[in-house]
Amino acid sequence: MDLRKRTWAEISLDNIEYNYRAIRAALPDGCKFLGVVKADAYGHGAVEVSRRLESAGADYLAVSCLDEAVELREAGIGMPILILGHTPREYVRELIERDLTQTVTCEAKAIEYAREAASLGKTLRIHIKVDTGMSRLGFLTAGGHFEQGIANIVSACRQRNLDPEGVYTHFAVSDEPGAEAEAYTREQFGLFMKVVSAVESAGIRFRIRHCANSGAVVNYPETALDMVRPGILLYGFGDGGRLGLRPCMRLMTHVSTIKYIDAGLPVSYGGTFVTARRTRMGVIPIGYADGLFRSLSNNCSFITEKGPAPQRGRICMDMCMIDLTELPEVNLESLIEIFGRRQSAEALAARAGTISYELLCSVSKRVPRVYVD
Ligand SMILES: *Cc1c(COP(=O)(O)O)cnc(C)c1O
Repeated sequence: MDLRKRTWAEISLDNIEYNYRAIRAALPDGCKFLGVVKADAYGHGAVEVSRRLESAGADYLAVSCLDEAVELREAGIGMPILILGHTPREYVRELIERDLTQTVTCEAKAIEYAREAASLGKTLRIHIKVDTGMSRLGFLTAGGHFEQGIANIVSACRQRNLDPEGVYTHFAVSDEPGAEAEAYTREQFGLFMKVVSAVESAGIRFRIRHCANSGAVVNYPETALDMVRPGILLYGFGDGGRLGLRPCMRLMTHVSTIKYIDAGLPVSYGGTFVTARRTRMGVIPIGYADGLFRSLSNNCSFITEKGPAPQRGRICMDMCMIDLTELPEVNLESLIEIFGRRQSAEALAARAGTISYELLCSVSKRVPRVYVD
């Protein structure tokens, strides 16, 4: 172990590629694959993950903003990249020069983008985002908004200097169990298909129609259309075991200090834990500034080579304590797994009242990523 690394995240790009192939194998022939690599590839390292996806044959990448796209282009990633969020019109030149695809979520933005592109004498490639029930980004099309929504999309697509390559929507509950979630997802999909067909009957042809996030890839394979858009599946979660996906990140630290604390002493800020016995306490150099949620304080265990060690007292910014009284073989410099192999990120996230996504992308930039294969 390199002891300069107080805490580190081991990343397996082989497992990312394995997951990519497992997802791909479940898709209909000819369906394209867009890998979502926003938020530094859910904490796994956007450049490294994108390089691996590019060499494995993925068709498209998606990021949330221009800066994330620029990072990939600067690293030499040449494949198509879709920006899912907003880009201010001042950056249309950069979008075009870097050959990026911009999402368009309303007619006013289409007009702004088109004007900028026209002033450069260039064309901006766009994907139209349709709001079918997520109530986040996109042209409103539900209920009484249908006719106006179609008119606005058609107007956006007809702007000179815009190339409407694609159209997409996003599901709100495709990963939730139950009949209500299923009905909602089917309604979103039905509306999306209706919107696409109404826009196409006005003479506009989209080359790529896409809507399936991870939940839909697993639960609604009929929504694959021309391309799927999974994120969390690539990183090994969200398939309920059905695709046999592998986790790709293992967050590791080590025991930096061990001391014996008398019975009846409060531990860490606020004294929220009081020792009931003489305690062999380990200090591990990981805290909430590394992405370990403070809300997990006194409510989780971390995994030693000899089994789980209960966490004690408030988690601090840079460190926290674990009880090694029952684990006498665990010593200074013993390795500690926060999550990854013997404790899943999903299980630890659940203890914090959140989801694997948040735990993975919270691992902070202070934590070096170590590519292990
Ligand atoms: C984040 C995101 C995805 C990927 O979601 P997962 O649940 O990780 O598959 C797909 N599409 C859009 C628009 C997103 O914002």
